[in-house]
Amino acid sequence: MLSIREEDGGEITGVCSVCGGDIYRGEEYYRINGRSICPECLEDFARDYFRSFVCRGGERW
Ligand SMILES: [Zn+2]
Repeated sequence: MLSIREEDGGEITGVCSVCGGDIYRGEEYYRINGRSICPECLEDFARDYFRSFVCRGGERW
């Protein structure tokens, strides 16, 4: 876990495991299966995460 003081005073408390972006103290992020996901990456992550649930219109199942 990183703890670096930036010039703006923000403290980095984690790193997004998708984009590698910094997650600052007080900032919202998602903790899924031990991975940290920033809000910007949630959609991509969720799309991949729920890949096995994909259906195609017109297909019977
Ligand atoms: Zn991210």
